[in-house]
Parts: sequence; structure tokens; C-alpha cells
Amino acid sequence: MATVTREAPPEARTLRNYVAGAWVEATAPEGALEDRDPATGELAAMVPLSGAGDVDAAVAAAREAQPAWRQLAPQRRARAVMALREALWARREDLARLVTADMGKTLDDARGEVLRGIESTESAIAIPHLLKGENLEGVARGVDVELVRQPVGVVGAITPFNFPVMIPLWFLPYAIACGNTFVLKPSERDPRPSELIYEIADAIEEIPDGVLNLVHGGRDAVNGLLAHPDVEAISFVGQASTARYIAERSAAAGKRFQALGGAKNSLVVMPDADLDVTLPAIMGSAFGAAGQRCLAGSVAVLVGDRARQDEVRDALVAAASELAVGPGDGDGVDVCPLVAPEARERIDAALAATEGGEGEVLLDGRRDPGPGGTMAGPSIVEVSDPESELAREELFGPLLTLVRAPDLDTAVEFVNGSRYGNAGSIFTTSGAAARAYRYGVEAGMLGVNVGVAAPVAWFPFSGWKDSIDGDLHANGRDAVEFYTRKKVLTSRW
Ligand code: NAD
Repeated sequence: MATVTREAPPEARTLRNYVAGAWVEATAPEGALEDRDPATGELAAMVPLSGAGDVDAAVAAAREAQPAWRQLAPQRRARAVMALREALWARREDLARLVTADMGKTLDDARGEVLRGIESTESAIAIPHLLKGENLEGVARGVDVELVRQPVGVVGAITPFNFPVMIPLWFLPYAIACGNTFVLKPSERDPRPSELIYEIADAIEEIPDGVLNLVHGGRDAVNGLLAHPDVEAISFVGQASTARYIAERSAAAGKRFQALGGAKNSLVVMPDADLDVTLPAIMGSAFGAAGQRCLAGSVAVLVGDRARQDEVRDALVAAASELAVGPGDGDGVDVCPLVAPEARERIDAALAATEGGEGEVLLDGRRDPGPGGTMAGPSIVEVSDPESELAREELFGPLLTLVRAPDLDTAVEFVNGSRYGNAGSIFTTSGAAARAYRYGVEAGMLGVNVGVAAPVAWFPFSGWKDSIDGDLHANGRDAVEFYTRKKVLTSRW
């Protein structure tokens, strides 16, 4: 990743935190990190490593703003989110271009991400409906029971590099629509899209100062949020090991948490699959965003007899060989750079391990890594041991692992052997196979003849097993559950 330096090079500006409606310099006791364009390697900005004092300032601002914000009618908070939606929509192309420049994904993909993020604001606009309570009349003579929802207070969000617009927007609109105030700690690897979201929000009169705050940094800033007594709830997305750490620290501090972790998603290809549908879907799933999606299909399970399995394997290798590799803003590019040279090196190491005996490299994507040190083409490997690391561990790059299964039951058994349960898809023309797959698979987001089974914002982003710590997911009604406390009143008249 980036190098720690004390001084910002003269050509790069240092990002500022956003606290109480003003852009402020971080004290950043540990210095700053470089934020580079993954495609070109050019230095774009320095990211201050905010410390506990910087977090304290943001949390204090959020805490001060919360009582008045909570007292605003839900319809007025909905209008504020609506204004944010309109402003984000107006700047959607700027946001997408910045995602490409900072994270590396193709412009089309970045446009899709921005749209998905804006959809979360659209979902949160329904907050007056979503906040409505429940009541039950006459539980005893003259006694009625009423349930209301109230905001939890100050909430913190810690987000990963791979969706630098969409994932902050999974949390921010719902949190504030529910009457909370918000502190975001975006990924230190590509924080500039978050900065633009805050610049856009800064101009919205309906959102008072202190409701939204932004703190740049890494572990110290995260630990500052986790330890802060005035932060009531933590929303997190990132690697499974970090998610577990966040969950343990939040629980120890008595905070509520939702910590969405890593994934290893399987794509089951039945013998009756229509390859015209299946091949492009698998290409997009495994190699789109260079495999850096939490819903990426990184294992293909080839079902059927050996001859059919070989046919699908060869078709996958042929289709992947045709993919165009290049910078995210290049015309017709399918496979973008990885976020940083270390990410590419991890994929190179996995390919070397395959050659060292774990399996067979069917398509080798290693190439000149380009000026950013981040370019890798699509790779396909076949492993004989379905429990090997290549088949079980998240690699987060453009590498598809093939395993074989004689029938659907064996395929589902393999899928359910994963410690993760984020997503998966089946490719088939049989309704019965699709139904058996949906019924039996232990994962929360499934697709039938769909490569990336990402739910729209009105549904929860519903991973299972080690793909989440905590019970409530991002988006939809789960978000409202997470960002509110229930209060039940029993009265006799
Ligand atoms: P990451 O865990 O490295 O970082 C995520 C955030 O945690 C960042 O803001 C980072 O600063 C912070 N962080 C990292 N290590 C920390 C530590 N030791 N202590 C405190 N804070 C720490 O994740 P990433 O590499 O940015 O993102 C990719 C991962 O996110 C993949 O594993 C992917 O599957 C996962 N992801 C999951 C989902 C989902 O819905 N389950 C969605 C998107 C991404």
C-alpha cells in the first residue's frame, strides 16, 4: 500500500477532515499516507492519519448537533435526504470519474456504483413510513401498548476501498434520516470520493452543521471511534478479520454494531446451462472490477460429466482470453487495475502457489504491471483439492478457481463448506435445479442466471456466516432497525 511520510510532497494537497460544517486540518500525529491513481501511479493526495483528538472533535460536533436534528420532523429530515439525492444526482458523473481515478474500476462500473449509492438515498427518503411504530389496544381493561422508534444518537461508519461511493451511502442517508448524527471514516486507500460526497452535502442548507462529519485515517481513527463513549453504534464493511475485530471491540465497549466482512462466492454451472447467458455473466462476475467486489464469483463449480465439465472449462478460458485489460477510463476495458501493487502481488503469489502444486494454471494473467504496478489480466486455475486455499480463501483479484462436482447435491455441499456466505449464483435452464439451489445454499444473496446478485437498496445486503458479524444488514428496513432503538409504552386510562 501507500508509504507513510511526515511531509506532504509539494505537488499533493493533504485532505482535510470535515467537522461541524467546516473543513479542518487533521492533527494527524502519525503523519500521512499517499493516495495514488492505481492506473498511472500518480500521486493524487496525502491522506492524514487522524488521531484520537481528531475523532474527539468530530464526535463532539455530532453529539452537539444531534438533539436539534432529532427534534426535526421526520418529513423534514426526509426532505434533507431528498436534497442530498438531488445534489448527488447532479454530480453523478463527477463522482463516477473520481471513483475511477481513485479506486481504478472502469467508468461504466463506477457509474453503476454511484447509481447504487444514490438508490440508498432514494430508499431512505421513505423514512416517515419506515419509522412508524406499532400499537395494540386493550391488552387489559383500559390498557394500550405503543411502540415508537427513536434514533440511537451518534453513529460511526468505517468503510472499505472497493465501493468508495456506494458503501458510505449504504449508511449515511438512513442514519441521518432516522435522526442520528454521523461520523464517516472512509478507506485510506481511496478517500477522495467520500470527500466529494461531503463537499456536495456541505452545500445543502437542510443539513445543519455537525450532522455529517468526516475523519480521514487508518487504525488510530478507527480505534478512536470504537473507544469513544459518545459513539453509540458502528457500521463497518471490510475484510472478515477486520470485521471480527470491529465486532469484538464494539461489543466490549457496549456499542451496537453491524460488521460486514469478506467473501468467497461460488458460481454453480449446471450441465443444462445456456452458455450464451452464462459465459458473459461469469466474466463480469469474476473479472469485473478486477475481482474486487464482495459479490464477485471467484469459484466456478462445474457440474456434470467430465466431457461437459471440460467443454465449460474451455469456454470459460476462451472467453476470459478475449477480455480487454487496461486503465479504468480506457475504451472497451473489461479488467481494470487492482487498487495497489500489493493486491497484484497477492494474485501473482497465488498463481505461483498453483504452479507449485496446488493446481493447474489454465490462463495466466501475469503481465507488465504498468506504471501503477497494478495491472493483472484475468487468470483461471483448476484445483484438484476443493479445500485448497485457492478454492476457500478470498483473494480479491481477477482470478477464477475451477472445481468440479458430479451433481447438484455435491455442488451445494461444496458451496456450504465455505466459512463465508455472502453470495452465489446458479446457471441453469431447470426451474427445479434453481429451486433446490435456492432452498439449500447457505448464503444470503443468490442469483439465478445472474453473475452479481446485488440486491437493490430496498432490500437488505444480506450476507451470512463469516461475511457478517452482527444481525442487521445494510440498507432497507434493516438499516432502520439498526439506527433506531425501540421504546414501548404501556398506559392505562
Ligand atoms: P479492510 O478491512 O482492509 O479495511 C476496511 C476499513 O477498516 C478501512 O476503513 C480501514 O482503514 C479499516 N481497517 C483495516 N484494518 C484495520 C485494523 N487492523 N484496525 C482498525 N481498522 C482497520 O478492507 P478493504 O481491503 O478496504 O476492503 C475489501 C474487503 O471488504 C474485502 O474483504 C471484501 O470482501 C469486503 N467487503 C465486504 C462487503 C460485504 O458486504 N460483506 C462489501 C464490500 C467489501
